[in-house]
Amino acid sequence: MPPKHIAILGGGLTGLSSAFHLSRRFPSSTITIIDKNKRLGGWASSTERVQLPGGRGSVILEGGPRTLRPASNSVLELIHLLGLSDAVMPTLKSSPAAKKRFLHVPGTPGIYEIPSPGIRYLWNPLRFFITPGVSFDFVRGWNRPEGVLDESLESFLTRRGHPMTARVLGSALVHGIYAADSRLLSVRAAFPKLWELEEKGNGRILWGLLTRSREAKEAERQKEEEDRKRYELGDVMRLMDGVSVYSFRDGMGTLPDALTRSIAKNPNVRILSDTEITALRFGEENGFEITTQRTNPIFPSHIVSALPLPVLNKIIPESHPLPYLTTNPYSSVTSINLVFPTAKIYPPGFGYLVCRPEDDYVADDGGILGVTFDSSALPAQDALTPGERITKVTVMMGGPHRAPDTALPVVLAHLQYHLNRRKPLPAPLVTRTWQHRNCIPTPLPGHLERMGKLKEALGGSGWDGRMEVVGAGVGGVSVGDCVESGKTVGMGW
Ligand SMILES: Cc1cc2nc3c(=O)[nH]c(=O)nc-3n(C[C@H](O)[C@H](O)[C@H](O)COP(=O)(O)OP(=O)(O)OC[C@H]3O[C@@H](n4cnc5c(N)ncnc54)[C@H](O)[C@@H]3O)c2cc1C
Repeated sequence: MPPKHIAILGGGLTGLSSAFHLSRRFPSSTITIIDKNKRLGGWASSTERVQLPGGRGSVILEGGPRTLRPASNSVLELIHLLGLSDAVMPTLKSSPAAKKRFLHVPGTPGIYEIPSPGIRYLWNPLRFFITPGVSFDFVRGWNRPEGVLDESLESFLTRRGHPMTARVLGSALVHGIYAADSRLLSVRAAFPKLWELEEKGNGRILWGLLTRSREAKEAERQKEEEDRKRYELGDVMRLMDGVSVYSFRDGMGTLPDALTRSIAKNPNVRILSDTEITALRFGEENGFEITTQRTNPIFPSHIVSALPLPVLNKIIPESHPLPYLTTNPYSSVTSINLVFPTAKIYPPGFGYLVCRPEDDYVADDGGILGVTFDSSALPAQDALTPGERITKVTVMMGGPHRAPDTALPVVLAHLQYHLNRRKPLPAPLVTRTWQHRNCIPTPLPGHLERMGKLKEALGGSGWDGRMEVVGAGVGGVSVGDCVESGKTVGMGW
């Protein structure tokens, strides 16, 4: 028997994807999706198109996610099913934005291109930070202590390579994806491939990578092809030929907006936006009772929670606590979009990341985690008046830097230092600041095991498998992971 009434708590991308897929899988079930905000989409709805002063045209400003990877079939499937193919804006692998990413090392002005293997590596200043890690990984044998089932990325990279490489490269990578401290982040939850490569290379990560046999590569390719059959992709794959990353003409908000429009057309789906959930109780006949600040109670038979885990923890009954909902910390991020009235403020490329300073996260280093060169990565999003030239960047601040100084003159001074410019930057035409509190979870070591136990508890007494918990706090944090979890939720119902 299909579920009678499914309530989806939280209408971020995970909740929206759940509503979309569950309404297709259970066309006779009633589905209610509830979100506290007026616009659904959670962090993915931080998109605006703004007019530039003086009739210069308009630009897209993104405060949340900005790019997607073609490897995520679940997002490509939505693009096909929602008819978004024409809105896709790619960054091609051949473009400088795909090839060039930079790093700023605090204490040294300027940014350095992250090198790829080849002769030019010998002249790249970052080799001093990278070579020790790579060399030690090569000469050291298996050194994973017995019984260790997970550890932080920093501990993993230090154990295999060198502490300096771990600090410079590892911390920067984690700033760019999780806005978190690499000394806290679980390597198995965040970078499972590294853990596997260590095993394949009998300790050596690089060896594991280089010695993948032709058969192993072929088996991986076949697995990918087999997996692709789970998705309705139409001819969307054609759009992804030679694509490094992509977004949409009107920014990332295109995806949640299209999902909202699509599910709203379904008479069995009810959307309750601007509605904060305050409590979840057990109701009659094996059902639940959901209380909100604005509506009468809702009585679903099944629930998908796509809420941040600490929010879920606050609303569940004290009689039936669930484990590990508050174990992981969440990072807060300030994103600042700056539109300058001139071209050529930075070198062509995707942007740069800033690594953890040698003397830890200190108060006076500005609190910048990374900067994206938006005009270089996705120029086609901006509709400029012919002849106009601008440069758009987004500065990401916060995370492990507890009190970033977001005052404009301070941010501009840091940018000038990072970009190694003698002259100050021109006054921006437009600035937009987005304060995202507790927006990205940091899965701590042991996360995968803990989430297994949470799943077990949801199958146990009271819950009886009628509530599933999904979202960035449970699986991966990328848009692809969130959309995928919505596709697979409730498979056992
Ligand atoms: C600054 C930033 C940049 C990012 N960049 C990228 C990127 O480039 N590429 C990428 O793939 N990923 C990126 N991510 C990650 C990705 O965007 C998120 O992990 C993903 O959007 C999370 O979706 P979600 O639905 O699980 O959670 P959320 O978006 O957090 O959704 C949860 C929903 O629950 C609602 N809610 C909360 N409390 C209540 C309540 N009491 N009652 C009702 N509703 C409630 C919220 O309003 C929200 O809509 C980025 C994230 C951030 C913050």
